[in-house]
Amino acid sequence: MREVVRSFHNKDLGNGRQTSFWFDNWLDRGVLVNVLGERGMVDMGINRSATVEEALQSVRRRRRHKASLLNDIEADLILVKEKLRSEVSDTNIWRRKSGFKPKFSTYETWSLLRSPGVVCDWSSGIWFTNVTPKFAFVTWLAVRDRLSTMDRIVKWDPGAVEMCVLCKNASETRSHLFFECSYSAQVWEYLMKGVLCNDYTSAWSELLILINDERMENKKKFCLIYALQATVHALWRERNRIKHEENPMPIEILMKLLEKGNGSDTCVYGEWVVKGSLREFVVNNRKGGRMFLVSDGCTHGELLEMALEDYGLDKKIEKMVLTYSLLDVILQQMAPDTPHMHVTNDRQVRNLIE
Ligand SMILES: [Zn+2]
Repeated sequence: MREVVRSFHNKDLGNGRQTSFWFDNWLDRGVLVNVLGERGMVDMGINRSATVEEALQSVRRRRRHKASLLNDIEADLILVKEKLRSEVSDTNIWRRKSGFKPKFSTYETWSLLRSPGVVCDWSSGIWFTNVTPKFAFVTWLAVRDRLSTMDRIVKWDPGAVEMCVLCKNASETRSHLFFECSYSAQVWEYLMKGVLCNDYTSAWSELLILINDERMENKKKFCLIYALQATVHALWRERNRIKHEENPMPIEILMKLLEKGNGSDTCVYGEWVVKGSLREFVVNNRKGGRMFLVSDGCTHGELLEMALEDYGLDKKIEKMVLTYSLLDVILQQMAPDTPHMHVTNDRQVRNLIE
């Protein structure tokens, strides 16, 4: 499991200057600090903060090790060294259906992650069909502590400034950002104190327990999961904006944006097909996913209109059905051949939104 997220992100080596030898995923074997442990740094004689370029330059004479894994890696390094291209920068690449590509597709990553077999103890808490994939993906990275927070960056770039840019008052770690930070805590409290009441917490570890709490009522849980993903995504984006020297957004505006976002919904275009006793939704990759901002009191006609327009469909010709799937927690208690939910009137639209 711990390799799942990493398996979606990879470094395509150019000159090896922008890639950490120990902490990036650049060799087919995975992130080397995880493969060899801290001990590996001593065994290999390669500095913790080394870039791939630096490490490979120091491989003058192949060391002999007792462990065959170390010898295998030494052999890999010699091959990689020959392939370094001094005039090309390293690039980030993301796993797509057709292999690793420089362009990150939230939709494709999301659908690859959703394939059967990818399960873990908190999956029921994080994945929900109505949640925007990019929100979920950033949250997943946060859960695995794989966002490039400053505490992780300084491990291989000791010159980096560790200070949190949102509060400028503490070093930036995953738990600090979500939501020990005074700035983040204000946003989270504004959104969730009223919803969670006595359960309210801003501690990351407690929130992860809460989203897996079987006793929590479904609507409340959905609200928590949605808000958590949207807030993690918004704070991470804001942090990156500030790092790129854009003007910080006033906190009130960030709060309002997040609050408004609660009325939005995502949908993907495709068709339901029956496979054996199961109905499966096959996404039309050309039309893909969209996000609708749906307000309270939206009618079935309006929602249909929005969908037709967004997907560029001709309403005279095309027939469109609106369907949704239920929360996983509900689905698990139902027969596998239960038909999907058709949305055909205003009352059902209300159910979908609320
Ligand atoms: Zn902070």
